[in-house]
Amino acid sequence: MPDKAAVPKVWTVLSMLDWATAYFEGKGINQPRLSIEWLLADTLGCKRLDLYLQFDRLLHTKELSALKPALLRRAAHEPLQYITGKTDFYGLEMKVGPDVLIPRPETEQLVELICNDISDRQNLRVLDIGTGSGCIAIALKTERPDFSLAAADISERALAIAMKNAATHDCEIDFFRHDLFQPRLPDDRTSFDVIVSNPPYIPLSEKQRIDAEVSKFEPAEALFHQDVRSVYGALGRLAQANLRAGGVLYVEIHEEMGEEISKAVAEHGFSVALKPDYAGKSRMLVCSQQSN
Ligand code: GLN
Repeated sequence: MPDKAAVPKVWTVLSMLDWATAYFEGKGINQPRLSIEWLLADTLGCKRLDLYLQFDRLLHTKELSALKPALLRRAAHEPLQYITGKTDFYGLEMKVGPDVLIPRPETEQLVELICNDISDRQNLRVLDIGTGSGCIAIALKTERPDFSLAAADISERALAIAMKNAATHDCEIDFFRHDLFQPRLPDDRTSFDVIVSNPPYIPLSEKQRIDAEVSKFEPAEALFHQDVRSVYGALGRLAQANLRAGGVLYVEIHEEMGEEISKAVAEHGFSVALKPDYAGKSRMLVCSQQSN
């Protein structure tokens, strides 16, 4: 094991938890204890809390050699979810890798908001644009199997992961490649009741200020844009062209940009309502077509 601290002669679950916590602390890693808990549980194929029922369990050579590269990757600040290759979203396990953003809890709230708003509607056509890991589309399809889901991304590599996730969860979703700056969708994909998007919304100028764990490892094209307003203007245009009368556009936004983003979408014939997340931050917009 890579270390200067006292290395136990025999590794048990407890000695590994304690040693690696100190090791990660020394490397300035966020949530050091939680990090080793996740990595060790992943290596042993058990639940994180089950570690606490088997403190004295010996770690075998094979397990130690599987754990070692994971420890080194975490010590280099790589997000846990990329090391284990998975995360949890809306109670569903999602495969993730450096080609897709790690789904955030805020985005679960976007799914929840949509599900609540349309709980009494049947058989809706829904498009998720900029789907990444596919998490929004898959969560919606799992919640509402009667809906017909389409999901697009500009990245082929993201689409490959999203398709795998959809297959794992047995979700039939129409995946296709698309750049959200193109208002015309390919083939006969149009007339949606709901369009949803969690686009890149961190201004490129903020890149230096955000946590290196995010900016160094997560895909820049999913996070940053030099003109965030134009991203939402493009989504407004795309939604205007592809929503049915009465259709609704739901977007996740940068908490400090609610007003200007609302304006950018409103220009395309929407009345826009800002919704807070559980932390009270303005995080979502519900954009309804204005009837004329
Ligand atoms: N919420 C993400 C973050 O703060 C950003 C997601 C996005 O740009 N769509 O890291």
